[in-house]
Amino acid sequence: MPSLTTLAIVLRAVNYGEADRIVTLFGRDTGRVSALARGARKSQRRFAGGLSLCALGTAALRERPGADLATLERFDATESYPALGSDVARMAHAAYAAELVGKLCAPHQVEPAAFDWMAAFLRLLDREGASAERLRVFEIGLLAGLGFGPVLDTCAACGGERFAGRAGAEVSFRWDPDRGGAVCTACARGGRPLPPAAREALMRLSRTSLEDATAVALPADVNRDCREALLEIINHHVSGPLKTVEFIAKVARAAGQP
Ligand SMILES: [Zn+2]
Repeated sequence: MPSLTTLAIVLRAVNYGEADRIVTLFGRDTGRVSALARGARKSQRRFAGGLSLCALGTAALRERPGADLATLERFDATESYPALGSDVARMAHAAYAAELVGKLCAPHQVEPAAFDWMAAFLRLLDREGASAERLRVFEIGLLAGLGFGPVLDTCAACGGERFAGRAGAEVSFRWDPDRGGAVCTACARGGRPLPPAAREALMRLSRTSLEDATAVALPADVNRDCREALLEIINHHVSGPLKTVEFIAKVARAAGQP
């Protein structure tokens, strides 16, 4: 089998045996792929820059028919994120982004837009530091890009009602992640209340670029409501809990944030 070269982000890397590593890569041209990197803990030549979490570079992969694990022949890091490894808040956001992409994208599902979105997020995270608003924009953009974006402005069930009426007056709705987002009271069967300010903030975040995200500046309670609402959407699409959510919460608590 010929080897295939793609830009890739390291989503996960664990040591295997004496010298090898098993990596999960998010390849721009391959989607999520698991691969064995033989001698990765020893070879500086074939794995220049290492295989650290969220490293971005050019990967040469060889896939064997019928095998779960491809072989990673080389990985050359093309972008460096010097600040990611030295700041625990940045690290927590990067680890969360990697876990999210790894869980939301099926193996071999090619998603170049999601790849570019994650690469842009990592670049800004490294350069400008961890920001709750930017993480929300990342989550919404990733969900939308993968076809899981929450319905926010009209009813997810009937599509009929616009929740912000004339003069910005809110029409009542419920938040129902199992049905894709906000639903009108006529359609509501389950779900829960969500403060109108959170729905409006989610709308605003969904229209905001990663670059401009920090200018949104959400109040802490609105950010918390947005985070919980998005996490419910995410949990609807992934199996098992996201391990890095608690990591972010711990870092935020240590920094005195709610
Ligand atoms: Zn409805």
